[in-house]
Formats: sequence, C-alpha cells, structure tokens
Amino acid sequence: MTLKIRTITGDINPEELGPTNMHEHLIRDAGTVEVLHDKDFLMDDADKAALELADFRNHGGGGFVDAQPIGCGRNINKYLSISEKVPEVPILATTGFHKSEFYLPTHWVFDYSIDEMVPLLLADVYEGIEINDYNGPLVKRSHAKAGVLKCATSYQNVTPVEEKLCRTAARAQKEIGLALITHTQQGTMGQAQIDIFKSEGLDLSKVVIGHIDRNPDPFMLLELAKQGVNLEFDTPGRTKYQSESITVNCLRALLDAGYADQIVFAGDSGRRSYLKSYGGGPGYAYILEFFIPRLRREGISEDVIKKILVENPRRILSFDI
Ligand SMILES: [Zn+2]
Repeated sequence: MTLKIRTITGDINPEELGPTNMHEHLIRDAGTVEVLHDKDFLMDDADKAALELADFRNHGGGGFVDAQPIGCGRNINKYLSISEKVPEVPILATTGFHKSEFYLPTHWVFDYSIDEMVPLLLADVYEGIEINDYNGPLVKRSHAKAGVLKCATSYQNVTPVEEKLCRTAARAQKEIGLALITHTQQGTMGQAQIDIFKSEGLDLSKVVIGHIDRNPDPFMLLELAKQGVNLEFDTPGRTKYQSESITVNCLRALLDAGYADQIVFAGDSGRRSYLKSYGGGPGYAYILEFFIPRLRREGISEDVIKKILVENPRRILSFDI
C-alpha cells in the first residue's frame, strides 16, 4: 500500500502536507450562476489569489484544498500559475459538483446519467483536469490532476439532481478512495448526505461534511460524528454568521466526546470581500493567524490542534495509488 496525496503539481507523501485549510476558493471565473447573481463571487485574479496564498504560507500554512467543483468557474491553468508563485503550499483541486441552483437549466448535469458522469470525475483524477471545466464540446486536459471529490445539497432539501450528483461522486469515491468533501447549506442535510453515502457503501472516514458548523448544534454534530464522518468547521472569522464563542463551544462538545480525529478547519473564502488581497477579510490565513492562537488561550491542547490542522488532513486526503 502506497499512500499519497494528489496535488496539482504531483503526488506527495502525506508527511509533506503541513497545516491545511480544507475548503477554500482560489479562483471563480466569470459566467457562472453565482457570479451572474452577485459580482462579489467573481474571483478571477490569479495574482490576488497568489498574494492571499502567500499570506497563508507566511502564517505557517502548508496545505490548501480548492473546493471549486465542475461548472462553477474552476480554472486549472490559473491554479497552476498561483502554485508557481507559492510553491511551498501544496494545492489540491476538486472534481465533482455543486448544489443544483448553481447550474443553468441547460447544463449537462441535469441530463447525464450517473454511469455517464462517473468517468468524467475519474478522468479528472487519473488523466488531468479538463481545461475548460467540462463546458465542452471539446475535452482538453491539463497535466494537473484532481485530488478531492465533491458533492452538495440545498438548504433543508436534497433536490433530485443533487441526489444523482451525490451518488455519482460517491461511486467515484468508491472506485478511487479519494476524500469526498461536501457542501451543506447552512449546515443542513448532513444526515441525508450520510444516508446516501451509506447506501452506496462508502467508507465514511473518507467523507468530510462541509460547512457543518453553520448549524452550531452540538447534539447534531455529535450524532453525525458518531457515524464516522469528518466534520469541517469554517465559520471562524465570518462573524456575520455567528460569534466564534459558539463555534468554540461546538468544538469542545466534540472534543469532550472524543472526536478530535474527525474535525478539520477551513476558511471557505468564496467571495472577493472575504480576501485581504481584494481589500476585504478575514482571508485565507485567519484560522492560523487568529483562531488557533485563541484556541490555545482557551486551553485547547497542542496535540488536539496538531490533529485538526495536520494529522487529520493527512489521513483524510491520502489514498492508495
Ligand atoms: Zn466553498
């Protein structure tokens, strides 16, 4: 068994991954539903993304998962140009899908079958990410491969196409063994996602339920953790959602119950107004710069911090090639 982590510049040994931001956004190009809806979602400047990533590196960052899925403004050539400027931070790119409202009604995700779509995900991982983000009709591949799978659900609802896309990502996961990260809307439908993954026979230790602290309900978080999934926290620094004390209380509930091995942190800076390089904040480095020092002052141990930032990402993101 050879465990590796698949970055856009090649496979690395798990020990080469440092403190990792498990769900971020480097680039979101124009033309997507999100950007058409709100210009704040337009993140098309590779130089600004590189500056922001350098800031993350300067605060000790050593691993970065870009969570932009197919058809949502993913641009692998821009990721590569960012990586060239900040080579110290391994970048993982994503293949998979967002929630259904982020696709125009004419997009192929609504028509293609699971069997037709699984090979598209596998080719992003095995051959290289499609340069035009599968906007077709031609398929041209980068040499950079995807290292993470993704699927998503809506607020308090899993639409029929989302269920299909979650099953597609799950079947690709079963085939490859890569980590499968999810988007939950306001932290809802985590259990519904787990039910789909269970019905597909997934190893839940490779699943990361995303944005789940947006519903800061310790009981719900414990119920999910009990089933073996990993939980991604990304509200620190985004005070408009909730006070950090609420996040810390949820974290404590999970730690007290013995789930330190199943927690990861992220920034999910998916708007230009969240990035310092675009004139906003809190930025990619916030977790390392402010949240971790706060956790130390609140008495969270170095062992636990190392697990969450380093050991858990290494374990979750590695797969047997
Ligand atoms: Zn995101």
